[in-house]
Amino acid sequence: MIPRRVAMLSVHTSPLHQPGTGDAGGMNVYIVELAKRLAAIDIEVEIFTRATSAALPPSVELAPGVLVRHVAAGPYEGLAKENLPAQLCAFTHGVMRTWADHRPDHYDLVHSHYWLSGHVGRLAAHRWRVPLVHTMHTMAKVKNASLADGDTPEPASRVSGETQVVESADRLIANTGKEAAELLHHYDADPRRVAVVHPGVNLDRFRPDASTAHSGVEAGRMAARARLGLPRDALIPLFVGRIQPLKAPDVLLRAVARLLEERPGLRERIVVPVVGGPSGSGLTEPEGLQKLAACLGISDVVLFHPPVSQDDLTDWYRAASVLVMPSYSESFGLVAIEAQACGTPVIAAKVGGLPVAVRDGVSGVLIQGHQPSDYARALSDFADTPTRAARMAEAAVVHARSFGWTSAAAATAEVYTAALHDCRPLKGRLAHVV
Ligand code: UDP
Repeated sequence: MIPRRVAMLSVHTSPLHQPGTGDAGGMNVYIVELAKRLAAIDIEVEIFTRATSAALPPSVELAPGVLVRHVAAGPYEGLAKENLPAQLCAFTHGVMRTWADHRPDHYDLVHSHYWLSGHVGRLAAHRWRVPLVHTMHTMAKVKNASLADGDTPEPASRVSGETQVVESADRLIANTGKEAAELLHHYDADPRRVAVVHPGVNLDRFRPDASTAHSGVEAGRMAARARLGLPRDALIPLFVGRIQPLKAPDVLLRAVARLLEERPGLRERIVVPVVGGPSGSGLTEPEGLQKLAACLGISDVVLFHPPVSQDDLTDWYRAASVLVMPSYSESFGLVAIEAQACGTPVIAAKVGGLPVAVRDGVSGVLIQGHQPSDYARALSDFADTPTRAARMAEAAVVHARSFGWTSAAAATAEVYTAALHDCRPLKGRLAHVV
């Protein structure tokens, strides 16, 4: 049994927002790409998200078969994620009103993303007598176990909220086997209800430069550098993502400072682009990072760039010698796969989903811990061994190809089918609930 129509819930951030800043990141990309691919296999998706402006229309067609519904809940602007729990009732009310305008069986299944949406999902799924599938994206207990300096721990209220969602969900989708194990270990999830589905990458968008397909990935790199006005022969370690302590862009800057201390000759031929915008609070907001670059004496080589569209991001990936992700925690790390799909190897911390996203020693290098000296050494190796770097670039493209969204959507549809199958006998029992 395959659902005809899924209500997808994304309370705290809209699939229409620009990812790479604020609360918009991998989850937004995940929802957009998954919804489009589900629609392509005849599963319609309606995504409910909180309206963040009075000017937004009640609904927007994102793609054929994918509708974004804006729900008024709380003040439009300036509402921090921390204050959203107080608006969940209003949000649920908006979801229920939409449902009431349709036939009672309008939605076959609810798929909620992040714990705040999970709470709305619990109620909606009960009321509609349909299964609840939930994806955590991040988990408070996991995040709190690996905080960066300047990070605020997640509150106990989030932990208990997540625990309730895990108890209620008919299926939990984990990005990796490790995340599945964390759900079992930290949240006592029922293993029969946990399924692993790797996220994907848009392989039509993220690919080596098509105009240089015959001359290879390295020719594409030079073409992308020319388009961005970056030097041909430079070592270009790239950071892409939300500027927040957890992503540790400061570790990259310290590593570059270390590298230049040891090898001052590199200063003339290194550029370090940092693409992304501020998110949350902490020392690593752009002004903080700029100050850090100045303190480290490397302002001349760091290039801060505001977030760009995914189409524009492709050239940044292609132009880079290597993507650097020194993150403290990463439920998956979409940028790692996107960069590899464009032919760029990755140096990443050995945390969360990154050991799945990066093939250590093949498509990149994984580093234990966050010592700038370790990242400096890995960068130095990239500068010294161009043949190895070129081999990794080719292998990165091959590795990334195993992460298409089409297969992610097919695997998600299987999870939906299993949830619907299991919930059939419950339908009658739940009829009187709520
Ligand atoms: N991103 C973007 N523009 C930017 C920076 C990032 O579109 O300037 C996107 C990027 O393509 C990726 C997402 O933001 O798909 C970040 O996802 P990731 O899983 O790496 O990190 P998260 O934000 O989920 O922590």
